[in-house]
Amino acid sequence: KGNLLNIENLKVVFYTYRGVVKALNGVKLWLNESERLAVVGETGCGKSVTALSIMRLIEQPGGIVEGEIWFNGVDLTKLSDEEMDEYRGKQITMIFQEPLAALNPVFKVGFQVAESIAHAKGISIKDAYEEVPRVLEMVGLDWKRTIDLYPHELSGGMAQRIMIAMALAVRPKLLMADEPTSALDVTIQAQILKLLDELIAAERNALILITHDLGIASEFCDRVAVMYAGNVIEVAKSEDIFANPLHPYTKGLIGSVPIIGLTKDLKGIPGVVPDLVDPPPGCRFHPRCEYAFKRCFVELPQLLKINETHYVACHLYEQ
Ligand code: SF4
Ligand code: MG
Repeated sequence: KGNLLNIENLKVVFYTYRGVVKALNGVKLWLNESERLAVVGETGCGKSVTALSIMRLIEQPGGIVEGEIWFNGVDLTKLSDEEMDEYRGKQITMIFQEPLAALNPVFKVGFQVAESIAHAKGISIKDAYEEVPRVLEMVGLDWKRTIDLYPHELSGGMAQRIMIAMALAVRPKLLMADEPTSALDVTIQAQILKLLDELIAAERNALILITHDLGIASEFCDRVAVMYAGNVIEVAKSEDIFANPLHPYTKGLIGSVPIIGLTKDLKGIPGVVPDLVDPPPGCRFHPRCEYAFKRCFVELPQLLKINETHYVACHLYEQ
């Protein structure tokens, strides 16, 4: 239903010594051009796996076993690695929680920025190098002081600015940011979010922001998708997620944020996240749900449309 991205019934598994981890269990998500979607949930709920699937970066042994990822009318799951090269790092880019880990320790900043521009635009590194000063200035860095630094000489905040520079210099249609500020000091977090906000607003890139922080999600994004144990269980406009949460899990999350707008981690719901090697049948939330009834134990609830913008996957809302 989105005009940029439509993920349908996405299933991803990982093969581990403990067994098959059913990491994504039929994820559905959609995104329009220039729209900002937050994907929230606890560690291990599948937020990062969803983003990595879009980038086709799920590492072996593991992979997409079912489903479709339509991006601009093309199903990315069907592309060869070579065809995927036209999307990854070009039309779709990504930044990560640990910016220093994403940089190559042996090359100077200027070279790495030039290399990503060269790849995206299909130009020589030499030509791309001429764009580096502008790109570094774009993220508020003094290019003369930064261009010849090695990654170990950067602070976390500087490194994340450089990752943002590389991710946005190529003018992607979609930027995905996976917990982009959670490894940074609180004051730096605010600066980085403000920078991201301004750059994305100017270029009108679509954004998928992965976060465990509901405050950041609702402040920064148009819509919020809540994930639980490998499923999207509720999607709504940011204000509606707070004002009118429908899914019992979302209600628990909101209840665990005492003051709206105050940054809080997702805690306070009794029970633990299920083991995805052997997930509960039916609704994967049923062992923790105070409303669970017979049907919940056997049937996986599908995402149901409540109104134009609000969707929930819970048997309580059927009929
Ligand atoms: Fe609870 Fe059943 Fe709804 Fe799952 S489907 S959240 S178990 S009421
Ligand atoms: Mg993650």
